[in-house]
Amino acid sequence: MAMYIRQENCISCYACEQECPTGAISHDEEGIFTIDPYVCVECNGFYEEAQCLAICPIEGCIVKLEVATYGCA
Ligand code: SF4
Ligand code: SF4
Repeated sequence: MAMYIRQENCISCYACEQECPTGAISHDEEGIFTIDPYVCVECNGFYEEAQCLAICPIEGCIVKLEVATYGCA
């Protein structure tokens, strides 16, 4: 289980990175944000909802990895 950032929708606002309780979100020198699927726990054990998804201003930018990969959860 993990969340995924759709690069084509991300506006590199930096809001999500600091919200992540496991440090799963990072960005490179070009402001490309990614979520490490091996570190993201979908906020289970920390919050009721995914914090990155809750704060991201762009609808559809952050989705479940299964949705991004297979088109469904
Ligand atoms: S769902 Fe939670 S743990 Fe996963 S990347 Fe988002 S803020 Fe981090
Ligand atoms: S909050 Fe959303 S738009 Fe902003 S950097 Fe993160 S994924 Fe990109």
